[in-house]
Parts: sequence; C-alpha cells; structure tokens
Amino acid sequence: MDSYRLHRGSAPLLLSLPHDGSEIPVALAERMAGPARTAPDTDWHVSRLYDFARALGASVLVPRYSRYVVDLNRPEDDTSLYPGQNTTGLCPTTRFDGGPVYLEGQQPGKAEIATRIERYWRPYHDALRGELERLRGGHGRVVLWEGHSIRGSDLPFLFEGRLPDLNLGTAAGASCTPALQQRLEQVLAGQDDYDWVANGRFKGGHITRHYGDPARGIQAVQMETSQRCYMDEGSGEFDPARAARLQPLLRRLLEVCLDAGQSPAAG
Ligand SMILES: [Zn+2]
Repeated sequence: MDSYRLHRGSAPLLLSLPHDGSEIPVALAERMAGPARTAPDTDWHVSRLYDFARALGASVLVPRYSRYVVDLNRPEDDTSLYPGQNTTGLCPTTRFDGGPVYLEGQQPGKAEIATRIERYWRPYHDALRGELERLRGGHGRVVLWEGHSIRGSDLPFLFEGRLPDLNLGTAAGASCTPALQQRLEQVLAGQDDYDWVANGRFKGGHITRHYGDPARGIQAVQMETSQRCYMDEGSGEFDPARAARLQPLLRRLLEVCLDAGQSPAAG
C-alpha cells in the first residue's frame, strides 16, 4: 500500500494535507512514549473538513502516516522553519505539549532518518511535484493549497494564548502573487464569524515556501485552521455542525484560488 493517496482532479488547484495521516507502524510505535502512540499532533479530520474540494475539481494529496514517522512539511535537511522559536522537526522527538515522542534511548539516528526520508517523505514530494507540473502543464498555472489544523489554545510550547481561528500563510508574501493574497484577505475580512491573521505565528511551512513560485505560475498558500472551528479539541471528535458553518468560507477561499488558477488577468 502506498504511503499516500492522490486524487487527480481537473482544475488548476491541488490540496496537500501533509499532516492528515495518523498511522504509525507498530514496530515504531513500540519505541514511543505512551501518549505519542496515538499521534496526538495530527491535523485531525482535515481531509474530512475539505471533502467538498473534489466537487470543485481540485486534486487532493493525503498521506497515510503520522508526522511522527517523518514530517512531510519540513525540509529534508531539517533546517528550522522558525529560527529562535520552538518548533518540531523532520522526525520530531518532542510533542506539541512539550513531552517526548520516544522512550529513552529510542530516538532515530541519522541512518534511520535517511531511510524514512526515502520511504515516506520523497514519495509524497514526488507526487506533489508531479501533480503540480501536470496541472500547470494543462492550465498554464496552478494554486497549491496547504491545508492544516492545530489545537488553537493551550499549546504554550508553540504559542502563547489563543491562536486565531484562521491563519493564512504565504511565506510573508513570497509564495503567491500580491493579488491572490489580497483577494483571499478580502474574503476573510468580509465575514465576522471567524477571526484571522495573515502571516502571523504560522507563515507557511516547507511545502508552501519550497513550491510557491509565482513567476513560474505556481502559487502556494497555507491555511492553518484552529481545530475548535470544526471539531471538539477535548474529545478529538469531528463536529459536523461546526464544520458545516466553516466549510462555505473555505469554499469561497478555494474558489478565489481556482479563479487565480484559471484566469491570468486575475493574478
Ligand atoms: Zn499541519
């Protein structure tokens, strides 16, 4: 079985959901601290949250395994995304709650990390790059939407206080055109159900920064959604009623991206 699933759509829009996977191979889980074995730092249910995107014609790329196996949204050389701030790495050894991922002495060494890169990280990136090029080839341009979610409060290891509901990241404006960012911000500013920020604590991870190349017709945008907007952060349960309130807004944002992917004049 592949380490990812790729749904190939027809529109110039690719959703990548690199932290949707929660599986941990048994032999690896046995080396982990108890609380890590259930992959608590998963972007829970994010593929379900975006299940409407296929009907828009979008391609959707979803991994099978947890970020604890290898974090697909980190560079393979494991350079920190946020120098000077706490963050988690390519093969995380610390959980978001600050606790250890591994039992003492069970952390992976260099050779094991290299193996995980080849087995899990590279296939996802090969699929991502291939699908971006296929869509760009057919349409002349494409938008990559990096869909993420995180517990929006009580994570002092990563941020103080409460994270806004919706956190748009464009690598501080480098991963998409100013026009696309402006149109996304207009949609967000046009509603008052959810608070939001652009390029706040989360500015876009490795995938957004690496693949976003507006001059080549590839625009990348990350959306980090606070999980309280569509699920119960305590129980971990998906909340269909909350999700149904949020999805129309996400749909409008994706439609702006589709528009940017289809009409050169729209930028
Ligand atoms: Zn994520």
